[in-house]
Amino acid sequence: MPSKKPASKISKHSNASAKRAASDVLEHVNCNLCGADDYAVVYDALSGHVAREESFSASGNEVLTDRVVRCKRCGFVYVNPRLKAERIVKGYASAEDETYVSQSAGRMATFVSGVKLIETFLPQKGKLLDVGCAAGFFVKAAKERGWQAHGVEPSHWLAKYGREKLGVDSRQGTLHTAKYAANSFDVVTFWDVLEHVPDPTADVKEAYRILKPGGLLVVNYPNFGSKLARLAGRKWWFLLSVHLWYFTPKTIRLMLERNGFQPFFEKRHWQKLNLGYLVFRLQPYSPALYKIMNTIVSALRLQNQQIKYYASQSVVVARKK
Ligand SMILES: [Zn+2]
Repeated sequence: MPSKKPASKISKHSNASAKRAASDVLEHVNCNLCGADDYAVVYDALSGHVAREESFSASGNEVLTDRVVRCKRCGFVYVNPRLKAERIVKGYASAEDETYVSQSAGRMATFVSGVKLIETFLPQKGKLLDVGCAAGFFVKAAKERGWQAHGVEPSHWLAKYGREKLGVDSRQGTLHTAKYAANSFDVVTFWDVLEHVPDPTADVKEAYRILKPGGLLVVNYPNFGSKLARLAGRKWWFLLSVHLWYFTPKTIRLMLERNGFQPFFEKRHWQKLNLGYLVFRLQPYSPALYKIMNTIVSALRLQNQQIKYYASQSVVVARKK
């Protein structure tokens, strides 16, 4: 249940020096969807939490301890206050992510399904940009199916991995630093990206600028409005320190519509990952269950078993008007 506490304190447990330190690293943010500064608290910050840029990586696994609020005007849910934007970008730029790349087979399988989905709307294929492409698995999947596929990724390490290990065009930077030409792409994809970036509206606007008229924007996101999210409450597995914005089908639609897009397709997003990795992700939630599962999975040598699962993510496709 949302509680209605004043927004003045970062944590009721923080002392004066912690508050001073916090003001150096944290910033107050307005609703990124409607611009209002009028919210109710959904989840209070947990005591003793420290927002750190080291938390930010493609497979960031830390449970969210920051305060989550809901905009009273439009219903958008977000972390406030949060780590300063420049620190977030810096965190991603310096991230090295062996955990993420260890799941290449499952991620490739998921991404091939993603490319096929796009081809149902654009069978002639064309020029595609994957924003926040991480190691470049989606770019590779698209390229192998005949797309002119490009990627942009803030992590130097991951961008290099894509170029050197996967042989894809993966440019280091953000969507904004890359400065692509206007009206130049048929498709722009944000796979697990908008919930991570400091200013998702700015990214949607930039995607609009670089897409050709009629071009497609594909977004997937952890659905905060899903039944699983509501049932799990504060224990929802997507409440992670790397996730700053919590979209629902309504708020993502609003953000796309307000920035010139016409959303026309929505569905649940199924993923494939190794069983061993899914068990690893259990660790912060239930160390005991993690130990038991890890022992069983290791004993049966099932670490590399591919599992297809729905974990309350959704995908939405929109057309540039
Ligand atoms: Zn709002």
